Amino acid sequence: KTDWTTDATAARRDAYYAASLTKFMPFREPLVFKKGQMQYLWDAEGRKYTDLLGMNLCISVGHSHPRVVAAAMEQAQELTHCTTMFYHPVPAHFAEELAATMPKGPNGDIEWVVHFTNSGSEAIDLAMTMARTATGNLDLLALRTAYHGPTAAAQSITGISGWRHPGMPGNVAFVPEPNQYRGIFGPGTQLYLDEIDRTIQSATTGRLAGMFIESVQGYGGIVEMPPGYLSGAAERVRAAGGLYIADEVQSGFGRTGDHMWAFEADGVIPDIVVMAKGIGNGFPLGAVVARKDVAAPMADKFMFHTYGANPTCCAAGRAVLQVIDEDKVQQNAKDVGGALLERLRDLKQRHPAIGDVRGRGLMLAIEMVKDRKTKEPDRDTTAAVFEACRDAGLIMSKSGPHQSVLRMVPPMCLSMQDVDNVADGLDAAFTAANG
Ligand code: PMP
Repeated sequence: KTDWTTDATAARRDAYYAASLTKFMPFREPLVFKKGQMQYLWDAEGRKYTDLLGMNLCISVGHSHPRVVAAAMEQAQELTHCTTMFYHPVPAHFAEELAATMPKGPNGDIEWVVHFTNSGSEAIDLAMTMARTATGNLDLLALRTAYHGPTAAAQSITGISGWRHPGMPGNVAFVPEPNQYRGIFGPGTQLYLDEIDRTIQSATTGRLAGMFIESVQGYGGIVEMPPGYLSGAAERVRAAGGLYIADEVQSGFGRTGDHMWAFEADGVIPDIVVMAKGIGNGFPLGAVVARKDVAAPMADKFMFHTYGANPTCCAAGRAVLQVIDEDKVQQNAKDVGGALLERLRDLKQRHPAIGDVRGRGLMLAIEMVKDRKTKEPDRDTTAAVFEACRDAGLIMSKSGPHQSVLRMVPPMCLSMQDVDNVADGLDAAFTAANG
């Protein structure tokens, strides 16, 4: 029988979770969630919360979304798992439907193919192998405040040192993130692009396998790529023989409001797109979607992931795409996210601790500083506001290399009514924290 009490759960975690797992707990006090419905969560005592984190973006269209759950349950009861070596129509349909979300290019002739994985970092690993196989080159570029996952290969291109442990695989050079608020070259695009050229010349063999870029950085603190950056980076990387790989694990599936995929805002077409999290609305799944010609050289280096293309998860994924379409989820992300951003801008007028508010659609952030001129990151106020939000029933996350950014990435069914509730809660939290 499951013991739902917080104390017993904490004691079991302390006793049986590895230290690498149990210490990642951002709140001062543990929190046990028992139930989730759309944008809301309930803890074991029945207290209601608004989930501005979407269980770390896995919940794209709503906790326990009835149509997603029904699709998965129907499949699980029929055949829970079917290994990729046997044919199954559900993942095959899902691959076709995912490929259809990709841009076809000016001549409408780009063909996309899908390789399903168990998670985002496995998809990152596979994209690396694919890029190295397709180009015959080894060197990779990544951004300094990037996060790409916990596997060794994904850590090797993760720029935030707190998420990268010693001894990870090499052949990676990092370039400065074009952070428009506190990037080393200030606002703008060109100097960051020049630095890509310089880095290719000085820190690589000059021949690249590719460059990984989160279309909007998540753990880096919601860092948007300025106009022209993605297309300029892709051009430079391709000139060095490499591929442009878009990490859409956080920013995909309509979250940024204007587009299904955040890279589309720059009018650029990647060679490989990596996705996970929101793809299954909580069911574990990842995917590499690649141009057919880029994926083709892997034919004699085939690999597959045990639960990749699992029909239960793929049935959930198909339902997610359907919900995004039928419920106009992307438009909701744009409208509700736009309204929330306005409210955050208003908070910035009144709370000096807020240095910057930014983001697109339902991928938003507030960055806290000790001084608006020096922009010194304010980790303590961020932690205080974060705790006060929890007390007010708002679940957020702290992110950024200095843990000085509140990240808001809720299920995309967030409503206008929630916006008022969130903004009022934040206002009170800043006042309580003397922000
Ligand atoms: N890329 C990004 C941008 C991510 O945020 C994450 C997960 N936080 C990953 C890759 C790795 O995904 P997973 O945890 O499913 O391995």
